[in-house]
Amino acid sequence: MTPDPICTAPLWVQPAPMPPLSAMPARVDVLVIGAGYTGLAAARETAAAGRSTLVLDAGGLGAGCSSRNGGQVAYSIKPSFERLSAKFGAEVAFRICREGLDAVTSLRALAQEIDCDWRAAGCFFGAHTAGHFSKMAREAENQPRGLEQRISVVPKAEQYGEIASDFYQGGCVYPDDACLDPVRLLLGLERRAREGGATVVDRCPVSAIQRMADGFAVQTARGVVHARQVLLATNGYSGPLSPWHRRRVIPIGSYQIATEPIGVERIRALIPRGRNIVDSRRIVVYFRPSADGERIIFGGRAALAEKDPLVCVLRLRRMLARIFPQLKSVRVTHAWVGWVAYTFDTLPHLGQHDGLYYCMGYCGQGVPLAPYFGKRIGQQMLGLKEGQTALDGLPFPSRPYYFGTPWFLAPSVLAYRTIDALGL
Ligand SMILES: Cc1cc2nc3c(=O)[nH]c(=O)nc-3n(C[C@H](O)[C@H](O)[C@H](O)COP(=O)(O)OP(=O)(O)OC[C@H]3O[C@@H](n4cnc5c(N)ncnc54)[C@H](O)[C@@H]3O)c2cc1C
Repeated sequence: MTPDPICTAPLWVQPAPMPPLSAMPARVDVLVIGAGYTGLAAARETAAAGRSTLVLDAGGLGAGCSSRNGGQVAYSIKPSFERLSAKFGAEVAFRICREGLDAVTSLRALAQEIDCDWRAAGCFFGAHTAGHFSKMAREAENQPRGLEQRISVVPKAEQYGEIASDFYQGGCVYPDDACLDPVRLLLGLERRAREGGATVVDRCPVSAIQRMADGFAVQTARGVVHARQVLLATNGYSGPLSPWHRRRVIPIGSYQIATEPIGVERIRALIPRGRNIVDSRRIVVYFRPSADGERIIFGGRAALAEKDPLVCVLRLRRMLARIFPQLKSVRVTHAWVGWVAYTFDTLPHLGQHDGLYYCMGYCGQGVPLAPYFGKRIGQQMLGLKEGQTALDGLPFPSRPYYFGTPWFLAPSVLAYRTIDALGL
């Protein structure tokens, strides 16, 4: 008997017939391009303040990362406080890191309003080497004042309480981390945007933005829309629409698989506390039990260059089996990819360029950051003080010879893989 084909839609996306196309206004106050977490959170703000707001997406609702992510929620500012201090000074660094903490707090509060299956199971951060473990333990002991997170150090001898694997050299537990259902969060944000008064139209790509005396004329698949303000909320799917932004975000494929159901008891034996698991390698992998506790959802960077997700299944399965040799013959039922947006300084960026608002660059960790900064940019479009952030006005760097195709990605992945293999 041949096995069932692998589904290339995310585990939480139920294939359903597309609803009819919604009617679309030809003139609005605010046009948001991109109906993911960022665009919908921004639209809610502008619409609720009485600005006529239209959200357009090239694909179905949440066609980008906002329906494709792993649903893990953690503090998500990548550069350390020390690195940020060296670059911007301690005060700005502190405020940037606070935004990361506030983003999680804000999502936790939002999850009280939106039923998105929020589960505060925490996260085990596995150390790839003994050196990584010592560094983690030191950092957990010496967190910057005012930026503390609850962290407990788990030596290798106690690791089986977190994960039935010898792959890691101990690690740290972040008990306040959580996971959620990515699509339920998306639909909740859409509902809030619509209830605020926004119109959301999918399957309507925007192909050009032209500046006019009183705003913008935006060319879409369904005709020209005139808007006083435009927000680019296109993140890793930014494309050629705005060459300035394209030179500043690096689209990178992030790949995930879901195993076949292998039984709640077996999963509980592998990950006893049902936490998210992330590790300290440069080419990081992340995984967790599915919401029903029957499967493992496993993600990471599977190839040097971008590939069909089906081609990556073998490699991701091998990566999973290195951690859990018990699962070496488990079947995979789902495999999918989405385009995250990295930036050259690994910080998110939001603001205005040439009159065009933008909010993007979450470096693969936008589940808490995108709704949070999306809300802030919406407030900025309204001219509200609450919209100010610690990231405002920071330079949004590019690199010479970078025009949107990350030619340096394959050599970088190779170099990082080598560093990981050498256990550095
Ligand atoms: C496999 C995977 C796993 C991930 N796991 C996690 C995780 O566990 N935790 C975490 O914090 N983050 C995770 N992320 C990242 C997170 O999903 C994203 O950072 C977040 O969803 C970004 O939201 P967004 O609204 O900015 O962008 P997106 O959701 O990507 O939305 C951008 C939208 O813009 C639309 N668009 C682009 N161009 C046009 C155009 N010209 N006209 C109209 N529409 C356009 C696209 O169709 C797309 O829908 C993951 C991502 C992937 C792919």
